[in-house]
Amino acid sequence: MARFLIEVPHEANDVACGQAVEIFLRTGSHFMTHADFGCADGEHKAWLTVDVETRQEALRILPPALRPRARIVRLSKFSMTHFGAMLREHPQGAAENRRIPRRGILAPVQ
Ligand SMILES: [Zn+2]
Repeated sequence: MARFLIEVPHEANDVACGQAVEIFLRTGSHFMTHADFGCADGEHKAWLTVDVETRQEALRILPPALRPRARIVRLSKFSMTHFGAMLREHPQGAAENRRIPRRGILAPVQ
């Protein structure tokens, strides 16, 4: 099982916001009815997280009309143990740059 973030954008106007919210609520899907919207902060997107096996399975949670614009991101958690080891190896880089480590340096918690 993996966790995915589903991001669904819509146009930045009141009509589009209302239509997006209505579509989400009318699905009756627990995932969809519990989505978070960024409209009140000027970010016209809805986000939900789901625990499913594949990216395709995550996408299928959405009604077909919303799928083409959706973005699906597989989420991972990292342990402080792992971050602590990284910071000991690269203390200056981590403190000065505050950059997210490049892919391959960290492995997600299994
Ligand atoms: Zn909106």
